[in-house]
Amino acid sequence: MHKALAAELAQRSTSGGARRRRRVDSPQGAELTLEGCLCLNFCSNDYLGLAAQPALVKSLTAAAQRHGVGSGASHLVCGHSAAHEALEEALAAFTNRPRSLVFATGYMCNIGVITALARRGDAVFLDRLCHASLVDAARLSGAELQRFRHNDSSDLARRLASGHWRRRLIIVDGVYSMDGDLAPLPELAALAAQHDAWLVVDDAHGIGVLGEHGGGSVEHFGLSMAQVPILIGTLGKALGTAGGFVAGAPELIETLIQFARPYIYTTAPPPAMAATTQAALKMAGEEPERRRHVLDLVRHFRAGAASLGLPLADSQTPIQPLMVASSERAVSLSEQLLELGFWVAAIRPPTVPEGAARLRITLSAAHSKEQVTALLEALGKLWRATAADD
Ligand SMILES: *Cc1c(COP(=O)(O)O)cnc(C)c1O
Repeated sequence: MHKALAAELAQRSTSGGARRRRRVDSPQGAELTLEGCLCLNFCSNDYLGLAAQPALVKSLTAAAQRHGVGSGASHLVCGHSAAHEALEEALAAFTNRPRSLVFATGYMCNIGVITALARRGDAVFLDRLCHASLVDAARLSGAELQRFRHNDSSDLARRLASGHWRRRLIIVDGVYSMDGDLAPLPELAALAAQHDAWLVVDDAHGIGVLGEHGGGSVEHFGLSMAQVPILIGTLGKALGTAGGFVAGAPELIETLIQFARPYIYTTAPPPAMAATTQAALKMAGEEPERRRHVLDLVRHFRAGAASLGLPLADSQTPIQPLMVASSERAVSLSEQLLELGFWVAAIRPPTVPEGAARLRITLSAAHSKEQVTALLEALGKLWRATAADD
């Protein structure tokens, strides 16, 4: 066994695809300690700067005193607490839907929702750039999987019209995690209505960030529950804690409680974490200045990058990819940035298509304008220097 695995691992390193974990020695934040060295962090999904927010740390401590540490069992046995129920109600209000259901992670939520709603004889239409968890969920469901061209409604329309299925699901990310662009939700909602399909939006990167009240890409476009009946979000990104959720009609939530296996057959998340997420949600709602600040930083970063001639992807969200193309150059830029004290992730195939390697720069409300300016200066210098090597 060990030899067989070693051979596969060697293959992965020679093809340049080996990944390595880097050890963080401090809480999350604009500054953190990476393997003993202080650096500025531009790769987390902590868009509102809540992951280590002192009031939330206090809230978790107090909630652990009140609820203990573990939930003890799954939701359907004896692990479903008042804290979970209060969070469900708060998420429903936040997303302007009658009900919601909380899962241990966003990944499990996607698996649970899609496998409970679709089966053999159904079709699921996924944007080509959908998150891996949605691809896995679609495969596991047994439904026919069709992947349409990224944000291409006419490709989707053609596919929707070309077959007979019991049920059709259109599944998209609200904000694409490696590109930062938005799905054209109004067009997709119109197509769903026209073809009697159900629109599923995974808004992992939109919730808390977009929309006047932080309701995400669905609020940004002003869409109703009739237009987006199945809204999914994660709690570990802008909300700074951990978990996933789905919001929608009572019939949807009841169906998931009965049939979503990753909801039923797993230990309920710690109730103290649910209580803390509720506090984070309140903060996201009541402190719109966090949203405004991170979106101001996005504009500041884009203006600076434009004047330096840096090829950014067309994104208005805190995910700002710098398109590099070659994996080697992306990795080399990322390493040189780290030497200067900036942590920026190089994203390579298979996470993104061949020839589309990039630096995925993420901004957070925890950053100051000066820190973003410092990153721009470093990028400008290294970009020119590595272009000369090419
Ligand atoms: C991060 C992410 C998930 C998974 O959520 P976790 O809570 O991290 O498991 C699902 N969908 C999208 C689009 C994501 O970016």
